[in-house]
Amino acid sequence: MRLSHHYVVPHVSTGDMLRAAVKQGTAMGLKAKDQMDRGELLGDDLVMEMVAERLGESDVRARGFILDGCPRTVAQAEQLASLLAPFDLDLAIDIEIHTSQVCVDCGANYSLSAPPLINWTCDVCGGEVVQREDDTEDAIERRLKLYERQTAPLIEWYRDRNQLESVPGTGSPDAVTRRMVKVIEQRRERKGGRLT
Ligand code: AMP
Repeated sequence: MRLSHHYVVPHVSTGDMLRAAVKQGTAMGLKAKDQMDRGELLGDDLVMEMVAERLGESDVRARGFILDGCPRTVAQAEQLASLLAPFDLDLAIDIEIHTSQVCVDCGANYSLSAPPLINWTCDVCGGEVVQREDDTEDAIERRLKLYERQTAPLIEWYRDRNQLESVPGTGSPDAVTRRMVKVIEQRRERKGGRLT
């Protein structure tokens, strides 16, 4: 969201779109809800159909977009590439988070290797840092397994295509946004103003 404000382009979040569909009680929302509650990934075709529709809208076509939460599988990345052809994504950013601790007030992330200076007190705003509620042992295990099997291969996929940058996800949301803007701008400079 912050990145899309920075570049003044639409924020296209598959998670937000799916949550909106659940709230509205659409057929897709009803289908999606159970899987989302269990932390499962939804089917590639269903997700990409929704993304294709959104990326066909005029605001996205005119200004470009920040796609958030997608692709999460290599099959989605392949479908996305053919959807965008003859153009392509400028860049995929991997936000590296090895954390389950978050500030309830400002959303800053911490990890065991980068904890707050004072236990359970946020360095950024002084708020309370808690263990994430959805991080029950079962849910963590499920998410990590899914991530390793389905999403982690995307890192190599985009790296092979020279489309990948990684940034650490710890610290405040603003700090993470600043890191993303920095890698985007560095890449732009290397390419003489263009990203690709
Ligand atoms: P998020 O807010 O991006 O974490 O997404 C919330 C939930 O929506 C995920 O746990 C998945 O169940 C589903 N979801 C969001 N994006 C995708 C995607 N690209 N592929 C499959 N499922 C997704």
